[in-house]
Amino acid sequence: MRLDAKIPSGPLAEKWSRHRNHIKLINPANKRKFDVIVVGSGLAGGSAAATLSELGYKVKCFCFQDSPRRAHSIAAQGGINAAKNYQNDGDSVYRLFYDTIKGGDFRAREANVYRLAEVSVNIIDQCVAQGVPFAREYSGYLANRSFGGAQVSRTFYARGQTGQQLLLGAYQALAKQIEAGGVKMYPRAEMLDLVMIDGNAKGIVVRDLVTGEISSHAADAVVLATGGYGNVFFLSTNAKGCNVTAIWRAYKRGALLANPCYTQIHPTCIPVSGDHQSKLTLMSESLRNDGRVWVPGNKGDHRAPGEIPKEERDYFLERKYPAYGNLAPRDISSRAAKEVCDEGRGVGPGGRGVYLDFADAIERLGLNMIRERYGNLFEMYERITGEDAYKAPMRIYPASHYTMGGLWVDYNLMSNVPGLYVIGEANFSDHGANRLGASALMQGLADGYFILPYTIGDYFATERPAKPSLDHPEFKKVEEEIARRTNKFLSIKGHRTVTEFHRELGKLMWDKCGMARNEAGLKEALERIPALRQEFWEDVNVLGDGNELNQSLEYAGRVADFMEFAELLVLDALTRDESCGAHFREEHQTPDGEAMRDDENFSYVAAWEYQGLDTRPILHKEPLVYEEVHLAQRSYK
Ligand SMILES: Cc1cc2nc3c(=O)[nH]c(=O)nc-3n(C[C@H](O)[C@H](O)[C@H](O)COP(=O)(O)OP(=O)(O)OC[C@H]3O[C@@H](n4cnc5c(N)ncnc54)[C@H](O)[C@@H]3O)c2cc1C
Repeated sequence: MRLDAKIPSGPLAEKWSRHRNHIKLINPANKRKFDVIVVGSGLAGGSAAATLSELGYKVKCFCFQDSPRRAHSIAAQGGINAAKNYQNDGDSVYRLFYDTIKGGDFRAREANVYRLAEVSVNIIDQCVAQGVPFAREYSGYLANRSFGGAQVSRTFYARGQTGQQLLLGAYQALAKQIEAGGVKMYPRAEMLDLVMIDGNAKGIVVRDLVTGEISSHAADAVVLATGGYGNVFFLSTNAKGCNVTAIWRAYKRGALLANPCYTQIHPTCIPVSGDHQSKLTLMSESLRNDGRVWVPGNKGDHRAPGEIPKEERDYFLERKYPAYGNLAPRDISSRAAKEVCDEGRGVGPGGRGVYLDFADAIERLGLNMIRERYGNLFEMYERITGEDAYKAPMRIYPASHYTMGGLWVDYNLMSNVPGLYVIGEANFSDHGANRLGASALMQGLADGYFILPYTIGDYFATERPAKPSLDHPEFKKVEEEIARRTNKFLSIKGHRTVTEFHRELGKLMWDKCGMARNEAGLKEALERIPALRQEFWEDVNVLGDGNELNQSLEYAGRVADFMEFAELLVLDALTRDESCGAHFREEHQTPDGEAMRDDENFSYVAAWEYQGLDTRPILHKEPLVYEEVHLAQRSYK
């Protein structure tokens, strides 16, 4: 298989506009002849479904929540990047592009990232026009703050609820189209498989989560906007429902899965408090604008934070990375926190925590200003820990948060399967080996509002795909496979809950393939995962029936997919015998403990092709060719 990323020719800064000028269009009157399925109604899917319908396409949109407004995007707190340079602090499209490429440790596709930076400015205009209540300066201009990996302030925000406000904007646009009849919305519907006809994506099979009914849906193109797979680690900052199912089933039907080992660990989360915890909570990176991260300078210092004098504290991010300080990127900040905790200087129960301290900021700016900027985050922290972070520092520790890997897509956001598009966190995206803060919302909305709506028309106009029909036997066949799988789950009647299996898998993944990885640990995980999978299929206990609301059954299906996917993730991590971004192989580090890339051998996107569960997948390599940037050792010092 030849991987063609379809990157347009010409100078980097002109590629996107040239491409748009030359790709084919569909006449407005003809757009209604095309049916598009969008799976997912988060920022990526919601914006895509609304925009495609606004253009005239006939859209069916699916989500497993009871309303598109509950997509996981609602959880995003800190903000969204855009190269507006409202602060006049030196920002530009080029700088956002370069920061993103560097932040991703030179493992992202140059042309995509440049386009992302370019359209970032349109996103803000679009959202403001929709009425998204971004924070403003006294003058009325939109306010900005800083996020990790940048030396400018380019992050637009709505207090600590940016995702929610952006999603309400996208949802309004979607609701308008639902009302107008352009979008048919299917809430509480889970896509369980992709239907391929003659090598093209032609539809999906879904389960109605309330009645258990299985149904098929045909379309001229299928768009997956199904989010990330961070819950493979069991404990993560993701909503409990986030899963890998849609992209995993598409992978098993022939779509390539790229860079699954690029998983982001966020440095600023509330530490794990016990064995029975099922979810972790993010404390937004925006807090690091004003909070200072530190641990006691000496091992075993158990004094209360207020009793430790400043000279006996180690502000380790400021010490190690003076140029970026507390806003060093996530991968680097997470590893630095792990390092001080490994040295025995961690704080809180079990010593797996570091302080995030606002005392200096409160003194400088006043309590009201801090409350205004981060009030809801402080409140959330207090509700979970019972501690008042205005009075004593927060305790934070890294946790699984975002996944840079996903289905492989070309410049048009189409996978290798004709007619299958992938957008938002579900694709392998523009973030390379590490995503910078506030760039996921930017990417999801860029894909949904500004990129897919152009590129999908070119596919229809060029390929003129044959009309799909639900009478095709492939739909029936897939429905029957799903029914068999459901019956299998319900008939096992084993002794262990789905949660127990998920927790065990997650612990294994965190221990062997989490913030740091090494060959021996990865090989151990590769042995254990298939065995655990077998135990799951022999001993899981799925309660209830298939023809009703059955969350145990839903969860079993998702965990079964994690059990398979985890193996690919680990294989990818083992094969990538270098460190880059969030993929930290302990064997490959600089003398001061930073990730050491191997550009000669690993400057590629790893795109895996399914060959059957017990056969090693085929690795396809898309070489990363840099025309504009110089590959350099990443430094934030
Ligand atoms: C706590 C938290 C805070 C964050 N804060 C920020 C931030 O400040 N800035 C930033 O840029 N990023 C942030 N992120 C990351 C960002 O929120 C996500 O990457 C982004 O919202 C993902 O959007 P999405 O549309 O791709 O997917 P999602 O919002 O996850 O939506 C997925 C959609 O797919 C549907 N779906 C999934 N599988 C199926 C299936 N099988 N069948 C049917 N439907 C399905 C779901 O129902 C849902 O509608 C944060 C992430 C977390 C966890």
